[in-house]
Amino acid sequence: MEYSPPIDGCRCSSCGENVVGEGTGCTAMDQVFHVDCFTCTTCGSKLRGKPFYAMEKKAYCEPCYVNTLETCSVCSQPIMERILRATGKAYHPHCFSCVVCHRSLDGIPFTVDAANQIHCIEDFHKKFAPPLLGVWGAHHARPGTGGDGAHRGAGPGLPRAVLPLRGLWLSTL
Ligand SMILES: [Zn+2]
Ligand SMILES: [Zn+2]
Ligand SMILES: [Zn+2]
Ligand SMILES: [Zn+2]
Repeated sequence: MEYSPPIDGCRCSSCGENVVGEGTGCTAMDQVFHVDCFTCTTCGSKLRGKPFYAMEKKAYCEPCYVNTLETCSVCSQPIMERILRATGKAYHPHCFSCVVCHRSLDGIPFTVDAANQIHCIEDFHKKFAPPLLGVWGAHHARPGTGGDGAHRGAGPGLPRAVLPLRGLWLSTL
């Protein structure tokens, strides 16, 4: 990774000065830097000889990079690779699974119920099979009252229809 710049007159992408001399420059992200100028965007520590992570042409040391990561809303670990976003939260692809059959729903259509629990479409339909419409909705018109109050209430326990929410699949890297 580290070598003297191939052509004289390479400019350091950080300070703009020429990079001259053996061992004073390094290249990263297709740019040339002085070894001392190649530092973590967040904490400023020198990244020479250390693993670093590049995001949008900026370099970060490993601890700072991990700090910028979103954590999985299932296992609370930082998400190092692909982020799966759904229902406004971030997940590891393997952590995003159906609460009923536990299979990973990475790339598979899913839906959530009123409590934001993730279901595969199959289990969702099994669990929330449409009610027999008309049973719960039956009303008891009281005779002689002119129908006052006849339409009040739909009966207890009527499952609310939940519209399938499609997840938004985004990936990084
Ligand atoms: Zn420099
Ligand atoms: Zn840092
Ligand atoms: Zn996870
Ligand atoms: Zn399932």
